[in-house]
Amino acid sequence: MATPPKKSTPAGQAPSRTTRTAVKRFVFPFSEAGSEGGRDDRDLLGGKGANLAEMCKLGLPVPPGFTISTEVSAHVSRRGTWPRALEEQVAQAMVQLEGRMAKRFGDVEDPLLVSVRSGARVSMPGMMDTVLNLGLNRRTVEGLAARSGNPRFAWDAFRRFVQMYGDVVLGVHAIDGATQSPFTLALEGAKRAAGVSEDVDLDVDALRALTERYLALVEERTGTPFPEEPDAQLWGAIEAVFRSWDNPRARTYRTLNGIPHDWGTAVNVVAMVYGNLGETSGTGVAFTRDPSTGEKRFYGEFLMNAQGEDVVAGLRTPEPIHALEARAPAAWKELDRIQQTLEAHYRDMQDLEFTIQDGKLYMLQCRAGKRTGMAALRIAVDLVAEGKLTRDEALMAVDPSSLTQVLAPVFDPQQLRAARTEGRRLTKGLNAGPGAATGRIVFDADRAEERAALGEPVILVRIETSPEDIHGMHAAAGILTARGGMTSHAALVARQMGKVCVAGCGELDIDLDAGSLRVGAKTLIEGDWLSLDGTSGEVLEGQVATRPSEVLARLFGAQRKQPSPLFEAYSTLLSWADDVRTLGVRANADQPDQCKTAIAFGAEGVGLCRTEHMFFEDAKIRIVREMILAENTAARERALEKLLPLQRKDFEGIFKAMGVRPVTIRTLDPPLHEFLPHDAEAIEDLARDLGTTTTVLRAKIESLSELNPMLGHRGCRLGIAYPEITRMQARALFEAACNVANRTGKKPRPEVMIPLIATARELELQEAVVRSVAEEVFAAKGVRVPYLVGTMIELPRAALTAGEIAPHAEFFSFGTNDLTQTTFGISRDDGGTFLPLYIGDEIVARDPFEAIDVAGVGRLMRIAVEEGRGARPDLKLGICGEHGGEPSSVAFCHDLGLDYVSCSPYRLPIARLAAAQAALRTAATDRSATHEPSDG
Ligand code: PEP
Ligand code: MG
Repeated sequence: MATPPKKSTPAGQAPSRTTRTAVKRFVFPFSEAGSEGGRDDRDLLGGKGANLAEMCKLGLPVPPGFTISTEVSAHVSRRGTWPRALEEQVAQAMVQLEGRMAKRFGDVEDPLLVSVRSGARVSMPGMMDTVLNLGLNRRTVEGLAARSGNPRFAWDAFRRFVQMYGDVVLGVHAIDGATQSPFTLALEGAKRAAGVSEDVDLDVDALRALTERYLALVEERTGTPFPEEPDAQLWGAIEAVFRSWDNPRARTYRTLNGIPHDWGTAVNVVAMVYGNLGETSGTGVAFTRDPSTGEKRFYGEFLMNAQGEDVVAGLRTPEPIHALEARAPAAWKELDRIQQTLEAHYRDMQDLEFTIQDGKLYMLQCRAGKRTGMAALRIAVDLVAEGKLTRDEALMAVDPSSLTQVLAPVFDPQQLRAARTEGRRLTKGLNAGPGAATGRIVFDADRAEERAALGEPVILVRIETSPEDIHGMHAAAGILTARGGMTSHAALVARQMGKVCVAGCGELDIDLDAGSLRVGAKTLIEGDWLSLDGTSGEVLEGQVATRPSEVLARLFGAQRKQPSPLFEAYSTLLSWADDVRTLGVRANADQPDQCKTAIAFGAEGVGLCRTEHMFFEDAKIRIVREMILAENTAARERALEKLLPLQRKDFEGIFKAMGVRPVTIRTLDPPLHEFLPHDAEAIEDLARDLGTTTTVLRAKIESLSELNPMLGHRGCRLGIAYPEITRMQARALFEAACNVANRTGKKPRPEVMIPLIATARELELQEAVVRSVAEEVFAAKGVRVPYLVGTMIELPRAALTAGEIAPHAEFFSFGTNDLTQTTFGISRDDGGTFLPLYIGDEIVARDPFEAIDVAGVGRLMRIAVEEGRGARPDLKLGICGEHGGEPSSVAFCHDLGLDYVSCSPYRLPIARLAAAQAALRTAATDRSATHEPSDG
């Protein structure tokens, strides 16, 4: 919903009755007796609703209820009112629910209570709202107390209800700079007055007094009494939960995760079961496998005598799931059976929520469990070994971007050991999000965002995180919390984001107001360095250097002797990906060691060697400057003569590393002023070197500066103005190729690439230079190497006239960095100042420098492919802009029919998997097209 739903009726009041008959269904009941929907109805019922219905179908113990479909969300945002039939359908479903539970809603003797819970198509943990224990008021609470024989429980349920309803529906939040809500403050006051530290230690009288305080608080804040009428409560909650789709944290979460804002949520109304009835009741969250490592073991935590949110809210630290066996043996046995059933049924790791009421188990939710990138890999590969998934399904099950985490750094072991022996190990918490992070302490999400924007690594330290902290968590390198378990908000969200997180660190004494944290005798403040090991849970004072991950270490030949299930899973999955992908993968690399890294990551060639990157070493930069500042061609050629052997040596290193794999070498591209010094001292040095004065040199530098250098004298324009530069580069690379061929017997395959052409004639001129040098070198060296000459397509004119350009090009490589810059007219260097605003305001769906803008830049690419291949059917096509390692762009390149993508070495695993997924998607579409019945 773009705007909060407008009320058709005042808050809390049911919409007017409708008399229409042939009406659309918006309400879908479920119970152990069955359900109409199921797992395939996520779009209509939301993930939670669809899975509750599915569990009912499987005959699992689920409390009955009904789902109000996502279509209501859409209807409200379109028309600003409830659908007319909704009220009657909800009323009917409530009557049915009363029948199933043999209780009545609002009954003063034995009231039916319900929960009202959000549930979108994809899970958005903690981002939207929930209300529990709805239906309680001063009269029904007495009924509940009498029926349950447990007045403490009844009043605890009532005070929780008033708190949640007050917060979610009536908007009673913290004010006047307080960090805690007035309800939490009142609760803390009640505990202090009673001299207890835990909520569970408040007795019935204390809870009754506290609830009355809450009710008074609501009236003071809202100016109206708390709604006592259950129907009004129900409609108030339904409306608020629908509205929570549009709260700021949910919007941020969707933007970060690419979830469309127009999907809307469903709302689930479910009969309450109680985990807070006493010591034989409880509630918990569990995963069918370890969500951090992917290991196959039932994993989770629970709290006895607690309700729903207590486990995930992180207010009390829960017990590990296996302890349930001793606490509630029958429920444990059933839960263990159910977790196996659900995993086998869904053929994926599941995240479960359950409640035990007086020893009887109820399932409240199941969904595909959030997991780290490491766990995703391992689970997918293990499920194939267990016969639960096919290889293709396993390939589709892993998000390519999550591979970033697998390659995430760990601490340098020496520095870590040193930190420990120096006594810098402060404490240990739960290893909630793996990886190593080091950064400066901040205590607030906004501060985290501010300091990170200045380029500082930060560690966000909170007592516990809440969904309001999401932007700060996103900005932080690591997250540390004092409270909460492995399924706390911090833990769940950090793992999904791939953030390093240590949670539930009980020894930390955090004072948010003072901006300090204390562990034992140590006190740290904002700005101090802190290091987190999210894999072991350790917290260390100061900075500890990080180093490559386990997979990286293995890839580069270290730690071979230790078993590494993660490395096995990584290699297995990527080898499957290589079997199915049709798109080639190359790396952008300019140094021999980068080439070696690239090969270890699976590169089949180099797609872009930026020759200018070879110019920056000290010895070379002086000669390059001499060349740039030369007064005439003869002087320039003298400088180029000095550069030739150095550049040739660089190329030899690259050709040797790449063997017979193709290597795309681009001739000089950037504007020349980028190579010149700008500070006074460097200018003096250079003047001395060149035997000139600083005044003359300054004037020359001044004459080379351009108003808009990205559109200036750069790219092929340099080679056109100074063909001797192209000639030297061609000579260096062909001589290097011939030398390596003669020495190793393996012929390198250079592909010479001319940058930034706008017209066919530019390419024609540069092509002639390259080919004539090639022939001279081959004749002189007595050997030929296979080579290609081609061009980058990075200007709209080049794309639009590709048919004219192709006769001179054996290949095109899309330089989508420049193509995006020139298509949008947004500078790639400083677009960052306003692009975030564009993305946040949905002017552009994603940053076009990150993911290809299919409608604009993509359209130009399509034209270039069609016209290029039309003029030259064997034209080879690739991409070497940054988009070459971004999954959605890789898929687009596959669909366009490119031959390869080229990206930075570390993104190659992502590109390989994304390419495999694109091939599998195409195969599936082709299959369904052939099976489509013909309409003849
Ligand atoms: C491009 O423009 O996409 C490209 C790869 O070239 P560079 O980033 O070096 O301008
Ligand atoms: Mg470019």
